[in-house]
This record gives sequence, C-alpha cells and structure tokens, in this order.
Amino acid sequence: MRILRFRQGPGAEPAWGWLEDDRVGGLEGSPFTTYRRLEATIPLESVQLAAPVVPSKIVCVGRNYAAHAAEHNAEVPKLPLLFLKAPSAIIAMGETILLPAQSHQVEHEAELAVVIGRRGRWITPEAAREHILGYTAVNDVTARDLQNSDGQWSRSKSFDTFCPLGPWIETDLDPAEILVKCLVNGQLRQMASTRDMIFPVPQLVAFISSAMTLEPGDLILTGTPAGVSQLASGDEVTVDVEGVGQLRNPVGADRRTG
Ligand code: ZN
Repeated sequence: MRILRFRQGPGAEPAWGWLEDDRVGGLEGSPFTTYRRLEATIPLESVQLAAPVVPSKIVCVGRNYAAHAAEHNAEVPKLPLLFLKAPSAIIAMGETILLPAQSHQVEHEAELAVVIGRRGRWITPEAAREHILGYTAVNDVTARDLQNSDGQWSRSKSFDTFCPLGPWIETDLDPAEILVKCLVNGQLRQMASTRDMIFPVPQLVAFISSAMTLEPGDLILTGTPAGVSQLASGDEVTVDVEGVGQLRNPVGADRRTG
C-alpha cells in the first residue's frame, strides 16, 4: 500500500491518505496505530502532497556504498557510520531546494529511506521488518564544501530544504535488491542496487537501535551510491527508487542575504 500526506487547498493541514492508481483516499486514524481506508476518489493531480512523515529524528548512514566512499578517498567503515540530519530540513515533492549563500558546492545524494512504524530498542536484524512501516525516496542534500571544512556534518546536511522526502511511503517492498537512481535535468547521475550496500537495512535497524530508541515516524537514510554531483539554480533533481516512485524537486538560490 502507498501511504501519503496531502492537502486539499493552500493553507490546509495535511491529512493522511492512501493511493490507489492515481486516486487518493483519506485514511482515518494513523498508519502507526489503527486506521480505516476511505474510498479513493480524489484525483492525485488535484491534491498537494506533503512530506509523507514528520520524524522525531533522521538517522543517516555515511559511506554505505563502497564506490561512493572511494570517490571521496574515504575508507569503507567497519561499523555503520551514523550522523543526524535536522527534521526541519524536510520538504515535500515539488518544493524547491534552496542553495544557501554560505556554500559553493551543494550536491545531491539519492537514497532509500526507511520509515519506522513501531517503537523499539535493541531490535534484532530478524525483527527489523516488524518495526518498519515502509520505504520512501529521499535526497540527502549536502553542502560538500562545508562538510569538509567543518570537520563534522551537522551544518552541511541540515540547511532548510536539504531533505526532500516522498512522494509517499510504500509498505510492500523488499529493500534487499532495488535500484536507487538520481537524475538531474533528466540526465542519469547516480544508479546502484541496494544489494551493494555495505550494511543492509536489517543490520542498520539493529545497529542504530542498539544506541537509541527508534520512534514511529523516524527515518533512516541508508546512504548514497557513487555519482554525487553539484546542483545549480534552475536544475530539477529526481530521486527514483524502484518500487516506490520518483521524488522531483527544483533547485533555486536562497535569496536571504542577512
Ligand atoms: Zn547521505
């Protein structure tokens, strides 16, 4: 099933919904507890999609594809390399990634995102599935120059608009072997199978939850394949996750000056 959040009109609060072909139906209750699906009668193109989840935290995994580690001359980690991204960076499908004045090298990172469905600590790899609601596409936008000069990654990963997410959550997906792609202005920049992850999804859930409680709605960004490249104002970035769909966002300059 595809779960989404949508608005019917500007300024309206986002509501839970589900997608059947190209029609949206309301969802009474919450996908994290109990819910009832209403008939899908609203045309998808008539609604405004909101980001599909509001997480308490975004846990990201660095260098989880060997080829991406190699393009930065970085070693492949022996344990998952974790960092956090601010939830305030999240934007929805179609919203604009703003290039901040502080950076001269903002890059895309196409990734598979895991949406936690059930609270847990010390989750075993075998039990990981029971704690996952589903999967969505994410762009872990990064100010690469600041990532290098800061020495740690919080600022470079957390500018407002640096976490495009969506367009929806797919609950019926096996994450073991799916294609993750990034296209900029229709040109292929990144493509890899999740089978090339150094630490696959069940191991990530186990490792992260051995340190911190995972809450319903929390996100795990599973790392990006090789091929990251710079974004410019006027670009359109598409993150394509096989079995989920395409997340598309334009890129613009942040006009704020001080
Ligand atoms: Zn990343």
